[in-house]
Amino acid sequence: MSSTPHYRPATLLVQGGIERTQYAETAEALFLTSGFVYDDADQAEATFNGTTDHYQYSRFGNPTVTMFEERLARIEGAEACRATATGMAAVNAALLAGLKAGDRVVASRALFGSCHWIVSTLLPRFGIATEFVDCADLEQWRAALSRPAALVLLESPSNPMLEIVDLRAVSALAHAAGALVVVDNVFATPLLQKPLALGADVVVYSCTKHIDGQGRVLGGAVLGSRKWIEEVLSPFIRNTGPVISPFNAWLLLKGLETLALRVEAGCRNAAAIADFLATRPGVTRVWYPARTDHPQHALAMAQASAGGTMVTFEVAGGKEGAFRVLNGLRLVRVSNNLGDAKSLATHPATTTHMRIGPEERERLGITDGVIRLSVGLEDVEDLKEDLARALDGLASRATA
Ligand SMILES: *Cc1c(COP(=O)(O)O)cnc(C)c1O
Repeated sequence: MSSTPHYRPATLLVQGGIERTQYAETAEALFLTSGFVYDDADQAEATFNGTTDHYQYSRFGNPTVTMFEERLARIEGAEACRATATGMAAVNAALLAGLKAGDRVVASRALFGSCHWIVSTLLPRFGIATEFVDCADLEQWRAALSRPAALVLLESPSNPMLEIVDLRAVSALAHAAGALVVVDNVFATPLLQKPLALGADVVVYSCTKHIDGQGRVLGGAVLGSRKWIEEVLSPFIRNTGPVISPFNAWLLLKGLETLALRVEAGCRNAAAIADFLATRPGVTRVWYPARTDHPQHALAMAQASAGGTMVTFEVAGGKEGAFRVLNGLRLVRVSNNLGDAKSLATHPATTTHMRIGPEERERLGITDGVIRLSVGLEDVEDLKEDLARALDGLASRATA
């Protein structure tokens, strides 16, 4: 595989980066080891001074983790990848590895909660100035990036309102300001959208989401140029230790094998569910990037090859209405997780976006009637029946 980098994504997902041991096993080997031994003191010395290639310690590298990093890098089209224990460890490492006091960070307002906390609360403690912009408003990006900046962090499509950032335009503005562009590509998955090809410098993932996609483990990844990964990111990861367990990396390798099948089926179900919801009484609005009524439909479809597995909709009756619908679901479960084989629904205003407060929620368009649906792999007719039943409960109450 290593000499044949031209394979298509479906092939890379199954075979990319595999390194077999002397036993020629079919499946990727799980190296559940913290360290490695040397033939002799000379080999240890050569390993440490870099004149020979040998694993040292699993905080620095591990063969199972390397296979996962190689596979993900090839799928993304990135030169290099480092895997981390969680998605947040990936975001944190991507930011802190290169930032210093006096730097300035510009970030999208619509960020995953913990990413928002790092930018709004953690970075300023270390003398890093931060500024948030409304992610769909190019004029705000232009204004914020008219002054020098060290880093831009953004998420597209955003959670939970599925707003789209113009990746090409924002990357160009950011580069002119001297900033490194970091894209949290979780909602798009490595298959639907390629931020590096659109001008971004670094891509981060919570592998907990679609890459595992089966509710088992947490994991994260940072992808970028070999130079940035080796010179900036790797020293930070080696010395601060947010590494992934080889066991989790092994599960994620197996997750990648079915990623294309799962994402394709999830997108198909999500598109059907979005169209279905749009016809139901009690549903006041549906957001799905592949629908022509999405406010940024053209941009969304120019940047990504499908609408994704997430559908956001608003029901009548505010929080009470949303809770009635969520509590009326039997097949779709209430959970803040996403990207899973199982369909999961959440009420952002009282869970994932509770902490940001009502004003910030209003700015982001997260009303009390908004429900975020992560569409899974169940039979779409069963999902429709479940949603229809839950929404009928809303309609009968509203007219009672
Ligand atoms: C889940 C998520 C994260 C954090 O990932 P963890 O694996 O939970 O640490 C970051 N960004 C986005 C967009 C996410 O959905």
